[in-house]
Amino acid sequence: MREIEAGVITEAVAKLAVEATHFLPEDVEGAIRGARETEQSPLGVQIIDEILENAEIAREQMLPLCQDTGTAVVHLELGQDVHITGGFIMDAVNAGIEKGYGDGYLRKSIVAHPFGERKNTGTNTPGVIHTEIVPGDKIHIGFMPKGGGCENMSRYQNFLPGAGREAVIKFVCETVDQSGGNPCPPLVIGVGVGGTAEKAMTMAKHSLFRKIGQRSEDPEVSILEKTLLDAVNALGVGPQAVGGSTTALDVFVETYPTHITALPVAVNIQCHSARTKHTVL
Ligand code: SF4
Repeated sequence: MREIEAGVITEAVAKLAVEATHFLPEDVEGAIRGARETEQSPLGVQIIDEILENAEIAREQMLPLCQDTGTAVVHLELGQDVHITGGFIMDAVNAGIEKGYGDGYLRKSIVAHPFGERKNTGTNTPGVIHTEIVPGDKIHIGFMPKGGGCENMSRYQNFLPGAGREAVIKFVCETVDQSGGNPCPPLVIGVGVGGTAEKAMTMAKHSLFRKIGQRSEDPEVSILEKTLLDAVNALGVGPQAVGGSTTALDVFVETYPTHITALPVAVNIQCHSARTKHTVL
């Protein structure tokens, strides 16, 4: 059994929070640069140039990529042969979020209760922490500062079991079209199909940790991802919804076995500030 001290997790999460909010991942920036070469709309090209300039300024002047530094979404893959010492793992992660958002002077966006006073907790905690027990003696930490504008465009629907791929394509396209400029396109779109309602939504979010261009290992799902990307980009929403062919940089689909009566479909949208960062302890 390998021992990992809770304080090590706190420090790692704090570092991820600062890095994720300042440095656009290379794959995302590369995809945006690629889109600039194919985008036909002059206004769309101008928006893309501004997004790229913003990423450069954030990187060089150590400024957050966006004023909305998001809900801290943390995905932990916890090796079953790891023993956490010196504290509770969830407390350690939340302490890391608080430290990172403090150290980085990042905007705190979390209110303590969804109703009533909606008082800001002042620390950006609690984070939304997902845990998965995996084989081995390591902890993989994925950190995603998830913006409110794009998260608010999430949708879920349970279709009749025979509705098939066509229903998924129509639902994703409708969701993106109706979202317009709210989620700050160009987007990365996460789709979860199967399981139950909460499983579908969790898969949609988890898929957004993938790198741009990383296709599903399931050949049928991989084809669906490509079909969805083409369909979404044919909508003409464009960068920041000014019109154009660059509505999404990629679409990721995760699937899971489901009930004979169900076809659960969840969509979770990521904005052009598609911030994720990973580390392994
Ligand atoms: S959706 Fe993304 S880019 Fe738009 S304001 Fe929110 S975090 Fe910023």
